[in-house]
Amino acid sequence: MAFFQDMVSIFKKRELPFIESFQQSAGVYTFRFEKAEDVTWKAGQHGLFTITHQKIKDHTRPFTIASFPEEGIIQLTMKVSEQPSEFKKAILSLEDGDTIKMAGPVGSFYLKENTPTVLIAGGIGITPFRSMIKQIEADHLSHTQVQLLYLESTKPHLFQEELDDLAKKTSVQVTYLDQRDDLNKALDKCISSYSNNGRFFVAGPKSMVAATTTYLQSQNIRKRHIKKDTFYGY
Ligand SMILES: Cc1cc2nc3c(=O)[nH]c(=O)nc-3n(C[C@H](O)[C@H](O)[C@H](O)COP(=O)(O)OP(=O)(O)OC[C@H]3O[C@@H](n4cnc5c(N)ncnc54)[C@H](O)[C@@H]3O)c2cc1C
Repeated sequence: MAFFQDMVSIFKKRELPFIESFQQSAGVYTFRFEKAEDVTWKAGQHGLFTITHQKIKDHTRPFTIASFPEEGIIQLTMKVSEQPSEFKKAILSLEDGDTIKMAGPVGSFYLKENTPTVLIAGGIGITPFRSMIKQIEADHLSHTQVQLLYLESTKPHLFQEELDDLAKKTSVQVTYLDQRDDLNKALDKCISSYSNNGRFFVAGPKSMVAATTTYLQSQNIRKRHIKKDTFYGY
């Protein structure tokens, strides 16, 4: 069913007017676009974004929508290296009056069940969880047992202030980590509390998602209880 919804959604292409961009932290930028009334998505989903204001070869990339629908904007937050790709150079050059094209939303990386949930972010993989936790706050889902384990080598962690604020307003518990070993220790605690009653969402670069999935499975968490959002390209 989700596959057919994605197929329908992927053909819905929309021009999103550019609002603003700013540096979120070292090497990370946020881009905001207008959201038409009828555009919606489930917090955690992604879209396919195409550069149209410049002619470039490789003009399309998938990005998580880091905002949630009631925020009234489409927000992308992305890493930009010191030698940005043609795509990143083009998106950084957006100005008033420019647009970007979005296809989607697509993907099944969103919260469905009211079961204990562990959100595991590696670096920029925090983007779908920002959206999900903002949605939890907006929906007043105080009964939902959600833990965020956020592994990031730089300090402060991306969105840390906002996440701290959200943690105060919701039942979501946030743990900031900077070592892989500490992530495994934090996972051990979640596994001993929830075992296969829990759902594990993992997002981030390919190597982090693969290592975390392997670890969870080695601790007897069933494959179908682990959801992955692999950010290829990092
Ligand atoms: C579902 C999803 C959600 C994402 N959300 C975000 C997000 O919120 N924020 C964010 O910063 N990034 C996100 N990404 C990653 C993003 O799409 C880009 O791949 C990334 O930003 C690198 O783009 P680039 O233009 O800088 O580098 P590129 O020039 O595109 O790529 C850098 C290197 O990665 C390789 N590569 C690129 N794409 C792939 C691929 N699909 N498979 C294997 N190798 C590849 C290239 O060959 C190149 O060597 C997401 C990816 C996916 C799949």
